[in-house]
Amino acid sequence: MRYVHRMPTVLMRLWPGLRWQMPVREEAPAVYLTFDDGPCPGVTEPILDLLAREGAHASFFCVGARVATHPQLFRRIREEGHAVGNHTHRHLDGWQTPLPDYLADVREAQAQVESRYFRPPYGRTTPRLCRRLAEPPFSLQTVMWSLLSGDFDPRLDPLQCAAAVVRQIRPGDIVVFHDSQKAAPRVLYALPQILAHLRAQGWLALALP
Ligand SMILES: [Zn+2]
Repeated sequence: MRYVHRMPTVLMRLWPGLRWQMPVREEAPAVYLTFDDGPCPGVTEPILDLLAREGAHASFFCVGARVATHPQLFRRIREEGHAVGNHTHRHLDGWQTPLPDYLADVREAQAQVESRYFRPPYGRTTPRLCRRLAEPPFSLQTVMWSLLSGDFDPRLDPLQCAAAVVRQIRPGDIVVFHDSQKAAPRVLYALPQILAHLRAQGWLALALP
C-alpha cells in the first residue's frame, strides 16, 4: 500500500469548486506546502524554524480550539509571513456532523483564525457544504491538495515519507503535512530534505496568496 499519493486528475475535474492545485508559474515555479491540525507546541516551532532557514513560506490550516489555547504560536505563524486557514474549531467530520452544527463550528473557528481559506478535516466535504462555505457570511475557498505526504501514518517510515514526496512533487502542487505530535517524526525528518530538493530544483515554496 502506498500512503504517499497524487490525487487523480479526473477527481479534481469532477469537482471544480474545490482548489486542488495552483497554476504553474512558468517564470518562477513554486509549490505550496500546507500544515494541518496545529498549532502544536514542540512541532510547529521547529517547522517554522526550518521554513525560515530556507526562506520558504507555507500555509497552516489551524484548528480553532488549538489557536485559542496557543495564541502566541498562532501569532508567530502569521508574523513570519505564512498563510493561515480554517480547519474547523473541533476538527469535525463533515460526513458525520449535521450541517448547521458544522457551520456553527466553522464560524467559531473563524473568530480565531480569520482566514479566507478552509480545509475540511479528513478531506470530508460535500457539494452542499462547500457551496455554503463559499457564500457569505463565510466566503471561504475550500482548499484540498494534489499530494498527500502520509506523515500522519505511524506505519510509514520517515525515510520513505521524505523520498516519496521528493520523487513526486512538482510545481503547482498543494502538499499536505501535519504539525501534530503524531506526524512529528515524519514531518520533521522529511521537511528539510524536501526544502533542499526544492532549492536544488530552483522551485519556490510559497504561502497561498
Ligand atoms: Zn485535520
